[in-house]
Amino acid sequence: MSATPESLGTARSPLERARKNARILGKHNVVSQAGIKSGPQPPTTRAEARAAGLKFYFGVACAYGHHRRYATNGMCVACSAAHAAARRTGVRRPPPPTAPPEPIAPDLLTGRVEGVIKYVGRPHTCGCTVRYVRSLKCVQCEHARRTARTPRQSSE
Ligand SMILES: [Zn+2]
Ligand SMILES: [Zn+2]
Repeated sequence: MSATPESLGTARSPLERARKNARILGKHNVVSQAGIKSGPQPPTTRAEARAAGLKFYFGVACAYGHHRRYATNGMCVACSAAHAAARRTGVRRPPPPTAPPEPIAPDLLTGRVEGVIKYVGRPHTCGCTVRYVRSLKCVQCEHARRTARTPRQSSE
């Protein structure tokens, strides 16, 4: 048995060196590591993001399909930047690829917190699952009722 302190010692020194390097590198990684640790699942509401002291959250998609929003004002991060750039350069940004102008919240609570007009709720008797956050009424039926009503009150 000749493999003892000496061979162990030589094996340990590079490892020790690597550890030292890791410690130095670690200083730079502290912030990002802490961020990952504290939020394995990014917050989906402004309230959550604020409570966690985070700058961003992943909320309801904007018309362009972005999810990252500012915790301070709920605005889309990418669109805010694009809007600012468009103003600066005078070049209009292209319209959203598919144009669903109104976002639909995944549930009522999110809709209320986000100030979204529509949300996905329990299926109505008509089969439609999209409802108004304010009235809880079925969007499809409300729309049908409105259009069914005589739009013009003729004054004949
Ligand atoms: Zn956006
Ligand atoms: Zn309905």
